[in-house]
Amino acid sequence: MDIEQIPETLTGAIRYFADADKCHEFMVGMRWPNGIRCPRCHSKNIGKLVLPRRIWNCKGCRKQFTVKVGTIFEDSPLGLEKWLPATWLIVNAKNGISSCELARSLGVTQKTGWFMLHRIRLAMQNGGGLTFGGQVEVDETYIGGRARGMNNKQRERRKRNGTGQWNLEPVQGILERTTEAQTSRVRLFHVRRNNRKQLEPNVRKHVSKGAEIFTDALKSYDELGDEYLHKVIDHAECYAKGRIHTNGLENFWSLLKRGLKGTYVSVEPFHLFRYLDEQAFRFNERKDDDKGRFLKAIASFAGKRLMYSKLIGQEDGGSLPQTGTWQTA
Ligand SMILES: [Zn+2]
Repeated sequence: MDIEQIPETLTGAIRYFADADKCHEFMVGMRWPNGIRCPRCHSKNIGKLVLPRRIWNCKGCRKQFTVKVGTIFEDSPLGLEKWLPATWLIVNAKNGISSCELARSLGVTQKTGWFMLHRIRLAMQNGGGLTFGGQVEVDETYIGGRARGMNNKQRERRKRNGTGQWNLEPVQGILERTTEAQTSRVRLFHVRRNNRKQLEPNVRKHVSKGAEIFTDALKSYDELGDEYLHKVIDHAECYAKGRIHTNGLENFWSLLKRGLKGTYVSVEPFHLFRYLDEQAFRFNERKDDDKGRFLKAIASFAGKRLMYSKLIGQEDGGSLPQTGTWQTA
């Protein structure tokens, strides 16, 4: 496969990846740039490609495999000529894309669109092992909206917690400011509560020691001074004192909320972290072009498999989760 042949634009990509042979050739080139290997036993002793099902016989473990085995596409009856254009659409939609929109563009049902969207989001969880350094902002926000479809018990609990008709989920963000080598990047965490127990470990895990950390006056962070240069901006006083501020994250929050509001009519709290990962991916790769983002996402697809049942939180597959629907505000 010649990477130069891969188109630069959405219309180009849709035309190019409508061809199943080209899709196959592309995936093979992305997965095995140094020659095909069995995804199970890693043998290089592979028979010829068997058409029309595009199967290889491995002479090492005597099993068959396709280019989808071991990737997020495994077990999906949908062809790569649906998956690849879907990936292009999702990674490059600035404010995200809804399952209805995706379904319409690809000619699949909305349920299928929803499933594809979630599988691809999983592949967009980048930077798992990345550590931030230099100047780092840490801040939280609440994402949520008018709670709908609640039963009485849920409504009672809300009254007790004082959130009223609002269903708010705390989200923590860590932002590494732009350096000479790298534009600013974020990591997001859907946390259960805004307390030290939930917030502090994320900082210690994802920010290298000795970094300069900027937070607001939240008590949860007041022990970070042992390993970091911790500087606090008290928002009751002012929003910035020189470089002591969290404006990078404030800007990101408004971007994030605009995306959620414009595109996703309802977000299940259970799935929130996937939406967060999607937005973080696009933000972190914002300097790349459409083709670059697409190739990065595809490159991370191997080895990330998500079964439908795991996705919806049920071991036996089955229907959609029964939590109250969430309206983003
Ligand atoms: Zn094998």
